[in-house]
Amino acid sequence: MKKILLLFLVSISMFFYGQKKYVVVIHGGAGTILKKEMSPELEQKYRDKLKEALTKSYEKIKEGKSSLEAVEAAIVVMEDSPLFNAGKGAVFTSDGRNELDASVMYGKDKSAGAVAGLTVVKNPIKAALAVMQKSEHVMMIGKGAEQFSKNQGLEIVNPKYFWTQHRWDALQKVKKAELKANQPNAFNNYHCPSYYWVDRKFGTVGCVALDKEGNIAAGTSTGGMTNKKYGRVGDAPIIGAGTYADENIGISGTGWGEFYIRTSAARTVAAKYEYQNKDVKTATEEVMLEIEKLGGDGGMIALDKNGNVAMTFNTEGMYRGMVTEDGEITIEIYK
Ligand code: ASP
Repeated sequence: MKKILLLFLVSISMFFYGQKKYVVVIHGGAGTILKKEMSPELEQKYRDKLKEALTKSYEKIKEGKSSLEAVEAAIVVMEDSPLFNAGKGAVFTSDGRNELDASVMYGKDKSAGAVAGLTVVKNPIKAALAVMQKSEHVMMIGKGAEQFSKNQGLEIVNPKYFWTQHRWDALQKVKKAELKANQPNAFNNYHCPSYYWVDRKFGTVGCVALDKEGNIAAGTSTGGMTNKKYGRVGDAPIIGAGTYADENIGISGTGWGEFYIRTSAARTVAAKYEYQNKDVKTATEEVMLEIEKLGGDGGMIALDKNGNVAMTFNTEGMYRGMVTEDGEITIEIYK
């Protein structure tokens, strides 16, 4: 009898072990995204780009490639599109430049790479990966990170490549609002009034993937926040704030970065999952609530080793989507 029971348990565990679900989940930023303000053509463009990112990423996983390659594939598609605040289409700093941040983490061995303040590297996510795989460091910034990227043979572009009219217009709008409120240093104030950030259009991109081997990777890439000043760096390149992955779970965030840094947002989700046995949905909701209480907003995606997904946000919308093992793609934008 005992033997039969043991056999039964072994076969059950093998059944579950053999059932690796590969999944990819992405976001393209959270913010004031309202259906009434979106033309059907623009909405279609977003949907098509998110679908392309998911498809490219899914193909990698299906071929048996690692979750890291899947994350890179999805993020490169979104970085190359002017629709998102990452790579081409990044927002402008206060002095009218584009400074890009990105990070990546691999859950299996907790290796990580991050870059901040890049101005000439076409795909910051590739630079973050190179830091992780080709250097002894985790984070590089500014000129040094650019020199390293060049040495690694990454594509270098003229800073003008990142210029887009809609992001330029957004900068002028935020500057006007700032002047009007006579609060030029509002960025230094954690409790700055809502006029200041409503128009700053989040649009960071991120991806979490689970591969056939059951390994999770997470990555995030951004231009930061419109009108950022003094070499400001947000949460996206901070491991544990905007990005985190371990053997259990992967997370990528988007939103008002200062609050994600102050709450160690991504790592806190993983800690809740591991130490408090919270599921992905509860863990992300609790962290978003903490961010909200402090006055921040945004969203996050999370994916666990069993293929459970959360796409949580406290803004009007978040560009988001996922693809499951069977190839089925879901894309959503609004609440
Ligand atoms: N989290 C990014 C930052 O603060 C912005 C965003 O998600 O759009 O730099």
